[in-house]
Amino acid sequence: PTKTDHQLILMHEFAADMYHHILMNTEEGQEALDYLENRGFTKEMIEKYRIGWALPEWNYMATALQRKGFSEEELVSSGLGIQREQKNGFFDRFRGRIMFPITNESGKVIAFSGRILVKSKEEAKYLNSPESPIFQKSQVLYNVHLARNAIRKNRKIVLFEGFMDVIAAGKAGVDNALATMGTSLTPQHIKAMKRFAQEIVLCFDGDDAGWEAAKRAAIALNEENFKVEVAVLPGKMDPDDFVREHGKEAFKEQIIGKPHAFIAFAMMHARRHKNFQYENDLLQYIQEVLQLLAGRSSPIERDLYIKQLSNETGLSEEAILQQYRKLENKTIERSRPSAPVQEKAPKRDPKR
Ligand code: ATP
Ligand code: MN
Ligand code: MN
Ligand code: MN
Repeated sequence: PTKTDHQLILMHEFAADMYHHILMNTEEGQEALDYLENRGFTKEMIEKYRIGWALPEWNYMATALQRKGFSEEELVSSGLGIQREQKNGFFDRFRGRIMFPITNESGKVIAFSGRILVKSKEEAKYLNSPESPIFQKSQVLYNVHLARNAIRKNRKIVLFEGFMDVIAAGKAGVDNALATMGTSLTPQHIKAMKRFAQEIVLCFDGDDAGWEAAKRAAIALNEENFKVEVAVLPGKMDPDDFVREHGKEAFKEQIIGKPHAFIAFAMMHARRHKNFQYENDLLQYIQEVLQLLAGRSSPIERDLYIKQLSNETGLSEEAILQQYRKLENKTIERSRPSAPVQEKAPKRDPKR
């Protein structure tokens, strides 16, 4: 880390302590503290994740940081202060938000995400720090510092969409939990996770966006040789909703403890919004699943899922298997374009 990186980290550490102090020990923090308690946050959780409150004032943090001796450049570079037009002074990026520190792998604060107390159309629910020399959204995973030991022990990562879900999972005793910072999964994220484990359970929100994101992430991780499983939530709930509604044990045992294998999940995904009364839907479903199987499956998986397809659609296993073989041959041809094709080999004259 350069000298600037070091300064930027000091600023974030200072800000995190101040936001946290305001939340925990001042009257101005009370409303936010009530909000968090309503959402099921205990004092211990608030301490553990160093959650805080940014006062709804224009330049409380900018002033405090400058008073601490940080320069104007550092203030802007950190993203905590924003320069006013005509360059007369600075204002705070985060005002009137619950502050979630984002840490690097050593547990040092490198950015924040701030949540508004009351959802509104005018303001984004979450506001993140901008990219900076110490914060690249496409690389950072929330909670690596706290989760690392549990990941090593379980040999498995549980990946969520949001940090609220990571915190809810922690409450339920699922400590090997990570989340991206609201972006989709990048190759850098995958590479970073590979250093910790080879197995992953995805647990994304139960809405359409969550299902699509889970499918994309599952394929990308599968291609990078992760063993991928997907824990599916009922309805449109997210993990945090589920823990609050059904409790920690149900979450740990029924959801995280019973994930679906990659192909089984992909089948559920392909079945979504399809009606087998319509033959187009039915045929498309079979084609999607067979394509998936032709790409990767073992003989046992093939047998298992073709049986399942037959049960679901009422078509014979034999017909499905025939269709599968057609696809498989195509897949093999495509994956080995330079291999000599049998028919084209020069015919030997048996007499010579
Ligand atoms: P909450 O329970 O407080 O509504 P959530 O974790 O369920 O939060 P989602 O809307 O599911 O929030 O979003 C998941 C993640 O996507 C968040 O953790 C955040 O990183 C990111 N995100 C969501 N909305 C925004 C936004 N308006 N701007 C930036 N990032 C966002
Ligand atoms: Mn969501
Ligand atoms: Mn959510
Ligand atoms: Mn939520």
